[in-house]
Amino acid sequence: MSASTSGELAGKVAIVTGAGSGIGFAIAQLFAEHGAAVAINYLSSGKDADELAQKIERDGGNAVALQADVSSKPAVESLVASVVDRFGKLDVLVNNAGIEQSQPLLEIDEENWDRTIAVDLKGPFLCLQAAGRQMRRGDGGSIINISSIHEDFPFPGFTPYAAAKGGLRMLMRNASLELAPYKIRVNNIAPGAIATPINAATLANPAKVERLQQIVPLQRMGKPEEVAQVALFLASERSSYVTGSTYYVDGGIVQHAEAL
Ligand code: NAD
Repeated sequence: MSASTSGELAGKVAIVTGAGSGIGFAIAQLFAEHGAAVAINYLSSGKDADELAQKIERDGGNAVALQADVSSKPAVESLVASVVDRFGKLDVLVNNAGIEQSQPLLEIDEENWDRTIAVDLKGPFLCLQAAGRQMRRGDGGSIINISSIHEDFPFPGFTPYAAAKGGLRMLMRNASLELAPYKIRVNNIAPGAIATPINAATLANPAKVERLQQIVPLQRMGKPEEVAQVALFLASERSSYVTGSTYYVDGGIVQHAEAL
């Protein structure tokens, strides 16, 4: 099976981690619409990922849903190997999988700390390393990390998350230098408040939604599809001279850092 021959990502093969929902789902869908063959990674419930893969194939594209826990090195290596077996190469990795759990700093338990760092920081490292080794053998590639505005701005109550995303910023910056000789570009997307399952508690609370509307300069939460558009740019040749950068997709909220 080979990648599609038309579209902005025609001929490219992409892995999107944590793509059974939210931002990852929107990115996988958009990449497929633009001609990429897409591996839709999921952690546990594969129903939505499977349905998306089937829809992409029905529409004439190429896609596969693959289970893997990004915090497990053997699982990540087998994910990348499966994609290369199936599609012949790898051009784009989107490190999207992520979790967050709120606890006051002095109450954070070790399990929260370890799991958040494992999924949000070690996971992207493991995926970047396995994908980078593969891309080095080919024509290079593009690695896109979905970090957060909290890669740079504090997030009281979510210290493991902010520490992981801050680490992801430096992982990206180091990797962009070390991988540039192999024509592998590495960039981050830093979303603000996007309407996805990770924000289910906020979305279910009209007062919180209203508060966000007040502090976001564009006066609303973002949509997963709006993050996906920037991922499309970074995956495509349009961004051929872009590496080592973070792109904010936040409705302007970081201009209001004091309101966060
Ligand atoms: P989401 O909860 O819908 O997506 C996260 C996905 O990651 C889920 O599908 C989940 O199953 C998957 N996942 C969790 N642990 C995993 C693991 N170990 N291995 C593989 N997959 C795993 O929420 P989302 O908002 O779409 O989040 C996507 C990314 O965007 C995350 O990295 C998140 O931190 C980041 N982000 C989101 C927002 C926002 O406001 N929604 C803001 C900033 C950053």
